[in-house]
Amino acid sequence: VPLPGQLLAQLIDVVGATQVLTDPGQLASFTTDWSGRFVGHTDVVVRPSNSDEVGAVLDLCRGAGVALVPQGGNTGLVGGGVPMHGEAVLSLSRLGHFELDATAGQITVGAGVTIGAVQRAAAEAGWAYGVDLGSRDSATVGGTVSTNAGGLRVLRYGDTRAQLLGLEAVLGTGDVVRNVSGLRRDNTGYQLASLFCGAEGTLGFVTAACLRLVAPSPEQVVALVAFEGVIEAANAASLLRREAASLSAVEFFVSTGLELVCQVMGLAAPFAQSHPAYLLVEGQGQGDVVGELAGALQALAGVVDVAVATETPRRAELWRYREAHTEAINTLGAPHKLDVALPPERLGEFLRTVGATVTESAPEAKTWLFGHAGDGSVHVNLTGLAPDDEAADDAVLTLVAELGGSISAEHGIGTAKVGWLARTKAPGSLAAFATLKRAFDPDGVCNPHVLMPPA
Ligand SMILES: Cc1cc2nc3c(=O)[nH]c(=O)nc-3n(C[C@H](O)[C@H](O)[C@H](O)COP(=O)(O)OP(=O)(O)OC[C@H]3O[C@@H](n4cnc5c(N)ncnc54)[C@H](O)[C@@H]3O)c2cc1C
Repeated sequence: VPLPGQLLAQLIDVVGATQVLTDPGQLASFTTDWSGRFVGHTDVVVRPSNSDEVGAVLDLCRGAGVALVPQGGNTGLVGGGVPMHGEAVLSLSRLGHFELDATAGQITVGAGVTIGAVQRAAAEAGWAYGVDLGSRDSATVGGTVSTNAGGLRVLRYGDTRAQLLGLEAVLGTGDVVRNVSGLRRDNTGYQLASLFCGAEGTLGFVTAACLRLVAPSPEQVVALVAFEGVIEAANAASLLRREAASLSAVEFFVSTGLELVCQVMGLAAPFAQSHPAYLLVEGQGQGDVVGELAGALQALAGVVDVAVATETPRRAELWRYREAHTEAINTLGAPHKLDVALPPERLGEFLRTVGATVTESAPEAKTWLFGHAGDGSVHVNLTGLAPDDEAADDAVLTLVAELGGSISAEHGIGTAKVGWLARTKAPGSLAAFATLKRAFDPDGVCNPHVLMPPA
């Protein structure tokens, strides 16, 4: 919908002239996603600073029939936070309110606060935040709630939904849901905060959240474990959970990914020889985490080499082999990024066969596999493909559905996977999604092209 002339003036009245961006040079960073694969267009970016302004902007846009795409740090990987259909962009990054309760171990923050800032504030108060991800210094609380971000320590602390004690949001109807009192127990009807986890801005806009903090972990150990094959690594990823209570992360990658990371980042190889598969295993806690992890590793089959680190700099070096995958793969051109989940007993089979499945449907594509194997989730990145050539994506997601998995373990549906949602969601669930969408956003102005196709 073209932007009605008077709407700009009304938006300026609400947020001020400097926070309504229309200059093409200023719009560019809001219209292209982090990977560079999703490039949208817009006439305007609006940057409110509090929930009242968010509500007023929403009212004006609803009245004018203009759809809004909410955006936090713009690190999402499924084209959900960029205006792919010319929508207006609602940037929530100025919502930076902060309130930490060190006694209760919880923090109430504006939607625009980054995860890195939450982690630092928690650490200063003697606590920790349970969600961590490679995009921590840009990804926001509003974005991580809306994608229900997982990350590196889901195994130990759960996803973002598991941290959420309360939420403030402006619904598509204009109603405001506000419950950030931070009660640990509150069984009084529908869990509205939870509904916003994974809603990707389709029901309304998150303006603040109350998050639980966790005990810090003074003792930490990281082991990079090399395996003789992917099946052995996949089986170990499942078993480790039983063997070590202090386990906090189990990340997977293979030899080709490690070689690319070393080459792009200029890192020395971790072992004298290359091996087919690796797990980056982390233990955290307050007791003998080193002894516990050593015992757990001894119980595994197929281990061919191990590097262990307890000191901070060396631990960070080992983590870099895993964390730098996303950045290293991006240097090969905008990848197609799939993040899928498999039942634990099918994970090894998937890892073994997915490369051949891709080659069959797109011989020019290269497959990169890594991810949070401890909770059955794998990132499948495909390079060498045109942005709109989706034959290989289709083949991978079909394989996932056949094996009983999910087409998105954590990045969400966005605009990238709308066409595949029905593969792994039953008709009854999709009908319930549509009912919720109509109830919360009857005029269809909240991210209308994301998650479900417009009615
Ligand atoms: C290097 C790298 C590593 C990553 N690692 C992980 C990982 O381990 N685990 C993981 O889960 N993700 C990961 N991601 C993906 C990404 O960081 C997450 O999806 C994150 O939650 C997005 O936060 P954001 O603030 O950047 O949101 P955006 O990208 O701005 O938006 C994401 C979605 O949420 C909506 N949205 C944003 N803010 C709001 C709001 N306030 N109210 C309503 N809707 C909103 C947007 O419309 C969009 O649909 C990674 C990304 C990168 C670049």
